Amino acid sequence: MMDMSRFPSFRLDGKVALVTGGSKGIGLAMACALGLHGANVVIASRNADDLKKVTEDMNHQGLNFSWIQADVTDKESVHYMFDKIIEQHGRLDILVNNAGMNIRKPLIEVEEEDWDRVLNTNLKGIFLVGQAAAKQMMKQRSGKIINISSILGGIGMPFQTSYAASKGGINQLTKVWASELSPYNINVNAIAPAYIKTPMTCAWLQDEERYKEIVRNTMMNRIGELEDVAGPVVFLASDASNYITGHILYVDGGWTAK
Ligand code: NDP
Repeated sequence: MMDMSRFPSFRLDGKVALVTGGSKGIGLAMACALGLHGANVVIASRNADDLKKVTEDMNHQGLNFSWIQADVTDKESVHYMFDKIIEQHGRLDILVNNAGMNIRKPLIEVEEEDWDRVLNTNLKGIFLVGQAAAKQMMKQRSGKIINISSILGGIGMPFQTSYAASKGGINQLTKVWASELSPYNINVNAIAPAYIKTPMTCAWLQDEERYKEIVRNTMMNRIGELEDVAGPVVFLASDASNYITGHILYVDGGWTAK
């Protein structure tokens, strides 16, 4: 007879999760998904009012949320965030390394300042937060790190010079960290979405021709919704993915398989 007790659970009860950029968009959707599966979720971003509002809303809906104001590009701020998390929760089980931004411009118009802003947020931020999480998780000898990449980390598209460079870097960091941290029972994976409707993409998606073109690129004939990222993040945060590391999970309606 099959021993069902050996089968892992998707539940996250008692786990402490940090979601950077958890105040809106994909980060907030992922934070909700983790909370719905029982995790204590800490959301972090720069705008305290947004964080406070979201936390009150989630707590009102029965989820266990708290917030910390932090800028992922600032080492001091990242260290303060980790000190607070350990002070309040004593551990960190799940990191969703999500905070990010984009400045879309043709290559010849990209200013040095644009490049620095995108790379500082999307790549240096991922590094600073990931490094601090790894230090804690190595002590615990357990943890799940989920870096939020993009299909643009793997495919070419116009006007994405700095963004694509940052996301390609995230894919590579994911593999390097997976190889370094697996002896400590830490899984490191990435989620690479295609276009999802969020505050970051809403203006870009307003162009009807562009919208249609994006839809045509997917096999599933639609743009991604926030709910589409919920299952993948819960899976990678839970024991159900214990034998998966260094993986880039595309959440793209089949775009990159075409
Ligand atoms: P949003 O702009 O909707 O949300 C971005 C979040 O990151 C906000 O909470 C923002 O809060 C926070 N943030 C930005 N900069 C910093 C910073 N320096 N320090 C801390 N927090 C910061 O973006 P999305 O939800 O669309 O994107 C989230 C992630 O998903 C990004 O990494 C993005 O590249 C990726 N992605 C998005 C896709 C999409 O189609 N939407 C597709 C593929 C990947 P605040 O400004 O208050 O700090």
